Amino acid sequence: MSISIKKNKLDSITRKVLILAAHPDDEVLGCGGTIYNLTSQKIAVNICFFSNGVSSRPNFKKNEILLRKKAAQNVGKLLKISSLTFNDFPDNSFDKVNILEITKIIEKKIKIFKPDTIFTHFGNDLNIDHQKISQATLAATRPQKNQIVKKVFFYEVPSSTEWNFSKNKKLFNPNWFVDISGSLKIKIEALKIYGSEMRKYPHPRSYKAIEALSRWRGATAGYKAAEAFILARKI
Ligand SMILES: [Zn+2]
Repeated sequence: MSISIKKNKLDSITRKVLILAAHPDDEVLGCGGTIYNLTSQKIAVNICFFSNGVSSRPNFKKNEILLRKKAAQNVGKLLKISSLTFNDFPDNSFDKVNILEITKIIEKKIKIFKPDTIFTHFGNDLNIDHQKISQATLAATRPQKNQIVKKVFFYEVPSSTEWNFSKNKKLFNPNWFVDISGSLKIKIEALKIYGSEMRKYPHPRSYKAIEALSRWRGATAGYKAAEAFILARKI
């Protein structure tokens, strides 16, 4: 079967894409525009979440977990995502989880869905859950013989990726840009569904700052708007 991809292609072998996100909203912040580009070209996108994203907050109420999950499902419909999987690891405490447990979940998902491409967190994010998902992804996609995952990308999450001001850590230095000038609007629509996670400008997780980042990433690569990634590995 041949798929004709005229614009925003990751490359000709992209058929199935798995997005790994610690919390519901990371997927939109990091690659919401790219997801919509892919699904609009009939490329199957699945998302795997690892935590509810709210239970570490003081005075959180149980229905907030359901609301966040419902928001993720509504975003899934808007971005035409074919399947969402939710896991319940302790929010903001993935350092207390055995990394092998997370790796096994990713390996199982790869076995069932058979993605050729994975988008995951950047390993030097400030958020500990993001760090662990990145680490577990690299373990689950070790380029052994018969590895079906051919490409691994790291995405950036505003208010986490840029806030790790460690002198000794490698910073997010993207080398892969996807034109989202046609899908920036829908990315912002998706973020509105996660409205309670959004903050007031000049917070980096505000609508204005996210649009500014998209414009800057675009300008870096000759597009009106873009999402930027690090290609971690391509086989
Ligand atoms: Zn997150």
